[in-house]
Amino acid sequence: MLPFKLIYHQDYDLHLGSHVFPSQKYRLVHDAVLAEGIASPEDFLQPDLADDTDVLRVHTAEYVHKLKTGTLTAYEQMLLEIPAGPETVRAFWLSAGGSILAAQHAQRDGFAANLGGGFHHAFPEHGEGFCMIHDVAIAIRRMQADKVIRNAMTVDTDVHHGNGTAAIFAKDESVFTLSIHQERNYPARKPPSNIDLHLPDRIGDDDYLAILERGLWQAFSEFHPDMVFYVAGADPYREDQLGGLSLTLEGLRRRDKLVFQHARRINVPVVITLAGGYAKNVQDTVRIHINTLLAARDLKNAPSPQLPKSANPEH
Ligand SMILES: [Zn+2]
Repeated sequence: MLPFKLIYHQDYDLHLGSHVFPSQKYRLVHDAVLAEGIASPEDFLQPDLADDTDVLRVHTAEYVHKLKTGTLTAYEQMLLEIPAGPETVRAFWLSAGGSILAAQHAQRDGFAANLGGGFHHAFPEHGEGFCMIHDVAIAIRRMQADKVIRNAMTVDTDVHHGNGTAAIFAKDESVFTLSIHQERNYPARKPPSNIDLHLPDRIGDDDYLAILERGLWQAFSEFHPDMVFYVAGADPYREDQLGGLSLTLEGLRRRDKLVFQHARRINVPVVITLAGGYAKNVQDTVRIHINTLLAARDLKNAPSPQLPKSANPEH
C-alpha cells in the first residue's frame, strides 16, 4: 500500500511509564497507520538487533561493555536520563538494527522509515538525553562498510541540536551534518555541525521554513550525498513540553515536504527516523510523525520533482 517500507518492532517501547519521553509513541504510530489504512501489514518489516560489530563502528568498546553488563557509573546514568536496564539496551539495539534495515530499503525504494530511532544525542563513549546509542551513525557506518554508499548527509530538524551527530562526524568529510534547532535549549554545549541553524525562541512557521530552505540549498550545493538521513523530530511543535519553538502541525508538514523535495531534486534516497516529540497531548506527536510518512508518500507518488526554481536564492 505504501511505496516504501516501515521498520518497526514492538520492543522499541521502553515502557517508561509517566516519563516525559513517550516511548509508547512508536506503538501508537504503528497502530494508527494500520487503523487509518495508510499502511498495510505487508508494508512493515521487523528489524533484528544490530550486530555489536556495527555498534562498535561508532561506539567505544568500553561503553558498549558497560551497557551490556549494567555497569554505567551514576554520572553516566544521570546523563542518559532513562534507566539503562537490559530491556532498554535491547530496545536501542533493535532501533539501531531498524535504522540499518531502513537504509538498506531506502537504497532500493527511494524512501524508508524507521518508526523509531533518531537518537542524535548519543556520543561514542556515552549516551545522553534519552539517547543510548546513535542508530543513525551506526546505519551510516554500516552502509559505508558495505559500500552501498560512500557519503551521507544528516538533516536534523529535531528542536534540540544534534550534538552527538556533530561530534561523531566532526572530522569525517564523508558525512555532512545539518542541524536546525532552538539555540537556547538542550544541549548546552553544541559541537559544530557542518551547518548549524540556531533559531531564536518561539519562531513560527514562515520564518522557520525560510531559514530551513536557505540551509538546505546551501547544504545541497556544498555536498552531494549518496543518502540522506532525516532526523524528523516532532518537538519543534508549539505545544511541545521540551521545545520552545512555535511551529504548527501544518508548518511541520511543510518542513517535511521541503526536506524531501530537496532530496528528490537530486534523486538521493532518504531514511526517516522519528527522534524526539514531547507534545502535551501524545496524539499530536503521533500525528506529526504520521504526517512525515504521508509527506514522503505523496512526494514519492508525485509525477516529477516539485521544487519551484524561484525558491533557489542563487537564481
Ligand atoms: Zn529533541
